[in-house]
Amino acid sequence: MPRQFFVGGNFKMNGTIKSITDIIHNLNQAPLDPGTEVVIAPPGLFLLLVREHLKPEIEVCAQNVFDKPNGAFTGEISAEQLADAKIGWSLTGHSERRVVLGESDSFIASKTAAALSGGLNVIFCCGETLDQREANETIKVVTHQLAAVKEKTKDWSKIVIAYEPVWAIGTGKVATTEQAQEVHAAIRKWLAEEVSTAAADETRIIYGGSVTEKNCAELSQQADVDGFLVGGASLKPAFVDIINARQ
Ligand code: PEP
Repeated sequence: MPRQFFVGGNFKMNGTIKSITDIIHNLNQAPLDPGTEVVIAPPGLFLLLVREHLKPEIEVCAQNVFDKPNGAFTGEISAEQLADAKIGWSLTGHSERRVVLGESDSFIASKTAAALSGGLNVIFCCGETLDQREANETIKVVTHQLAAVKEKTKDWSKIVIAYEPVWAIGTGKVATTEQAQEVHAAIRKWLAEEVSTAAADETRIIYGGSVTEKNCAELSQQADVDGFLVGGASLKPAFVDIINARQ
């Protein structure tokens, strides 16, 4: 079965009730490719507002999840709480949490496993820094990040892997189609060797890092690029053009 094209929007710590309501209105009205699965991740404060007003065809995603179901963990939200609130997805491993908040591979793997066992789907982010790319360590770094998840997770059917080179996030520097395809193919090979051929065939591997309405069509033609995780451009009306990249 062909893999369904997938576009996620990560609003990061951006937006107000007014601006997010405008985005919801725009997405509800816009003609969206019915072949694309669309998932948006507003700041936690707005998850319920978005779920209530966004059309049900578009799914809602937390930007973060904790690795315990409940308890004395001030400021955290569990997968069980998200699932109860009809939020079906969470991001894990975003580079801003890895770099700014110091989240380790092992903690991210625990959060991914907890999200899955709490009933969520996960967009798991991985990717190398500029120094690591220049040292020719891209594939090593990315497969190491994936291997940490493999230690705690058997079933990959609810995971979308987002390859996001750190040097391309929010910088306006997009990976070339060749760079993206090369890493996506390596991730698929890793899935075939380390998980299963079914996981390699079925897992969506999406690209993130300065995707815009201008560069999305060419990237979307690559054999192993199954969609995008979009930051800055997901706050703009042109997000619709990215959702419709394959039309
Ligand atoms: C992201 O936040 O996941 C991202 C890819 O950001 P941007 O599109 O702004 O580079």
